[in-house]
Amino acid sequence: MADAPAAPRMIAISSGKGGVGKSTVTANIAVAMAQSGLSVGVVDADVYGPSIPGMLGIRGSKPAMTPEGKVIPARAHGVAVISMGMLTDDDAPAILRGPMVTKYLQMFVRQVDWGPLDMLLLDLPPGTGDIQLTLAQAFPLAGAVVVSTPQDVSLKIARRGLRMMEQVKVPILGVVENMSGFTCPSCGTVTHIFHDGGGERIAEALGVPFLGKIPLDPAVVDSGDAGQPLVQAAPDSPAAAAYGRIARALAAAGPGATGIATPFAWTLADGRGRPAPVAPAPDGLPESLAALDLDGVNLRLTWADGHVQTLAPRDLRIACPCAKCRDEVTGARLLDPATVPLDLRLTRIWSVGNYALGMAFTDGHDTGIHTFRALRQLQDTEMEDV
Ligand code: ADP
Repeated sequence: MADAPAAPRMIAISSGKGGVGKSTVTANIAVAMAQSGLSVGVVDADVYGPSIPGMLGIRGSKPAMTPEGKVIPARAHGVAVISMGMLTDDDAPAILRGPMVTKYLQMFVRQVDWGPLDMLLLDLPPGTGDIQLTLAQAFPLAGAVVVSTPQDVSLKIARRGLRMMEQVKVPILGVVENMSGFTCPSCGTVTHIFHDGGGERIAEALGVPFLGKIPLDPAVVDSGDAGQPLVQAAPDSPAAAAYGRIARALAAAGPGATGIATPFAWTLADGRGRPAPVAPAPDGLPESLAALDLDGVNLRLTWADGHVQTLAPRDLRIACPCAKCRDEVTGARLLDPATVPLDLRLTRIWSVGNYALGMAFTDGHDTGIHTFRALRQLQDTEMEDV
């Protein structure tokens, strides 16, 4: 392992509809990853029914704070957990169902004292609507997993989920088919009650990996209710073995290949909030950022494929794509470069999902969202300008 803690891989666990076992999958693979020695955090973002704490046996709601005002996550079975259920009283999530959720969660993820993490799992609310889209957009996700049952693995739902993730540049790491057959409590044999292989066919049709099937097992319910995930309560059961295989597949899915993976807000004056760099991978996506640096006053971007770019604050300001600086319809520049001071500096840089950077300048302008794609197309600043 490298000396500097790498940014955690943040993986969203999603489902087209509720009740398919998404949270049970999240809780079990988190514990399975922790059992294998990884440092794991879980963000329970399922506002409709935050169930992760119960499944992991976490009682009591309000989390404690560090003297610096950071939230101390609850810990159970080797996993650090924060949940919307801890953030609000029982009846409050209803008020939060909306844009506030994303705001709260972003704040929550950033202000949690996670310690060094290898993996951060985000249990999304079920569905493929606006709230899921905003959440997927708000975090720099390394990828997403789709959980479905054999009955519900309709191509339509899966395709909708896939398209949603594509929109925000989140790769689908694979499909998990849950409750795919019945495990006989006495002999352990798995019988397929519903159609077998639906998840596999969906994965194949959509061109994404199939991560595995988890059999229907009453012990899953009992262990979840008792706050002891199955991988802990009955590690030798077929379902626990299936969770273990999925956890291993996800943990091995190329750490570092996806670039900076924590939400950050870097204040340049004091260096606060600066994201930890990750090693660029030769096969990394050209539009994934591996490191952010300063070269004098210029911004140095190292992309996941190893390409390095040096951009002057003034050039970045002139390239601002916001509605004040660029005509939204024609794309024509509204900002007169002559009005941009030569000694303009950057003051803050922050992440916008895993597809863009927000930037603030000494002239007070802070409304531009610079997409990775647009940044990558900018010309390097000439050295004599430095
Ligand atoms: P979701 O997060 O998709 O709404 P949950 O994880 O809360 O779904 O699971 C819904 C119910 O199904 C829970 O009671 C859970 O214990 C049960 N369940 C999940 N997976 C299985 C399984 N493989 N076998 C039997 N019951 C399961």
